[in-house]
Amino acid sequence: MEAQDRIVDARWRRRARLQLDPVKGKCVFAAEAIAAGDVIGYCDGPELDRDTVHSIHLGGKRIDPSEPFRFISHSCDPNAEFRDKGNWLHALKEIAAGSEITIDYLHTEPRISAPFLCRCGAASCRGMISTPANEAAAPRRSAAR
Ligand SMILES: [Zn+2]
Repeated sequence: MEAQDRIVDARWRRRARLQLDPVKGKCVFAAEAIAAGDVIGYCDGPELDRDTVHSIHLGGKRIDPSEPFRFISHSCDPNAEFRDKGNWLHALKEIAAGSEITIDYLHTEPRISAPFLCRCGAASCRGMISTPANEAAAPRRSAAR
């Protein structure tokens, strides 16, 4: 990590923190009120050569993200986004202190390493979170449930 990146990291670290949710496990929460459009933090990490459950595509690279963003949850109606799929996480809407920070995994990921059933509760919830690449890799035997 470059010295300049370390300064950037320290500057924004206080805005988001890791917190243990009894049901979901480690999640990212707002440590203070964050206005819509504001920078929440900077996420970087070592480049990976394959997808993992935590990997994320930022700045044109697949990386193993640094904490706390390593544990950011998905929502189909997220309150944050890595703008232009770069390393800076921005608030999409006002985020109250103490509320969870979420992103839409499908915004950055060309392929979801482990498709999952979303329980975000949003009216626009997509249900199963997967990508066309998942379908190609593991075609479903039947569409029936
Ligand atoms: Zn959802």
